[in-house]
Amino acid sequence: MVSRVIPVDSFDLVIFGGTGDLARRKILPGLFRRFRSGQMPAEARIIGAARSDMDDAGYRQMIREAIAEFGSEEKNDAGGIDAFLGRLHYVAIDATGDGGWSQLRDLMRDGVIRAFYFSVAPSLFGALAERLHQHGIADASSRIVVEKPFGRDLASAKALNATLAEHFDEGQIYRIDHYLGKETVQNLMAVRFGNVLFEPLWNSHYIDHIQITVAETVGVTGRGSYYDKSGAMRDMVQNHLMQLLCLIAMEPPSTYDADTVRDEKLKVIRALQPVEPHQIVRGQYEASQDGPSYRDDAENPRSFTESFLALKCHIANWRWAKVPFYIRTGKRMKARSSEIAVVFKDLGHTIFEGDTARHRNILSIRLQPNEGMDLQVTIKEPGPGGMRLVDVPLDMTFADALGPDREDAPDAYERLIMDVIRGNQTLFMRGDEVEAAWAWTDPIIEGWEARNDVPKLYDAGTAGPEDAMMLMHRDGRRWREIKG
Ligand code: NAP
Repeated sequence: MVSRVIPVDSFDLVIFGGTGDLARRKILPGLFRRFRSGQMPAEARIIGAARSDMDDAGYRQMIREAIAEFGSEEKNDAGGIDAFLGRLHYVAIDATGDGGWSQLRDLMRDGVIRAFYFSVAPSLFGALAERLHQHGIADASSRIVVEKPFGRDLASAKALNATLAEHFDEGQIYRIDHYLGKETVQNLMAVRFGNVLFEPLWNSHYIDHIQITVAETVGVTGRGSYYDKSGAMRDMVQNHLMQLLCLIAMEPPSTYDADTVRDEKLKVIRALQPVEPHQIVRGQYEASQDGPSYRDDAENPRSFTESFLALKCHIANWRWAKVPFYIRTGKRMKARSSEIAVVFKDLGHTIFEGDTARHRNILSIRLQPNEGMDLQVTIKEPGPGGMRLVDVPLDMTFADALGPDREDAPDAYERLIMDVIRGNQTLFMRGDEVEAAWAWTDPIIEGWEARNDVPKLYDAGTAGPEDAMMLMHRDGRRWREIKG
């Protein structure tokens, strides 16, 4: 396949928190790959900013090491990386102080796109936004990129939105949810709205239920103190899983532009019905041969935070009347696997004598591993023996179907950063979406707190607590197997 990399316009990108984990692990290795692919214009510049005292040379060395550690190895040839590092600068700035800002202003070029990545704690967003304006660095055409967590409840999300809105229009704010940058997630829209096959069946007449699973094998070691204040609902469900749910469930937008798509997603969130306590299972992993318990990882022996969550919910509109959506996510599970499964209804009648098996069409959309989709269809088992039916997947693993050139394809972060430069907000969360998502999750979390809800323990390396199985079994359904 021919690579079709279209360079973006020239830019100056300032990364506040440019020395932090996210910048070193994701943002800069990603930008290097875009540079290598020819998408980042040769004269574009990246300016790291943080409190640490460092010069350009020191910052370039730090990022060289970060790319060696976190970048994809085969791409780290010396020629490419030196040219890339030459595009990097560093300014020592305290978000809450006044030093360094004039130096940053002098570094910025006129006539190119200005983007500011707030890769720092959300408590610093307000100070950064204010100083960018105070020092004449940001204007009406500048963009800011902010990371999750976007609040920890509706009130804090509203406060954060209000703080940003004092200095930037909604059209300038790019709230990153890297799940939306995944190839498969965008393909979900391509499959739904680019084919005649699926959309006519995409409703309660033909779909029995939908399952969304995001399973991780890692625990919370190393980030336990952060995670323990958050838990699976705040860390995964309120953002990533709800975004997937929106894309699966939304009405066809009339055009593929940012606000039209986000309007449709917002309608889904607003149509989500409240969830009853018996429709939710919270879990916490126990110690195993392979690692400590959640409570040890979190260094909180009395923690009631969930490392696993499964729930059943409904969307109150015509399309999805009575169709349950089952979603689950957890840490220290049996495999690293993310999948959306659209399970179609049984045939009302079979003409094949003696066939007692339940044959179902299932569209499986895999986010990881092996990004791709397959559609389970029923065919005749080949060979003698009459008309025996068997279910087989029509497999569309992207790496197989689209060829090796895809190695140059951007990963989620890279794609989203390039979208910021292009000024395309389609794959970013709008402020009202984030608030609506909190408005749905807040009462659930408040219910747990009011009841002192205790999560069910589960063995590491499994599919979560037994009660999560029962959530489905009670409805005569079962979860898809978690396969790595
Ligand atoms: P981190 O490793 O703690 O880095 C924080 C960065 O902010 C450092 O560069 C730090 O450098 C800088 N900083 C701290 N206080 C500052 C101040 N007053 N003024 C200017 N710079 C300051 O954090 P991180 O993991 O990179 O996370 C950054 C943000 O992204 C957080 O909001 C986090 O929740 C979010 N996030 C991170 C990840 C991830 O994988 N790491 C994933 C999703 C979201 P100095 O100490 O030198 O100032």
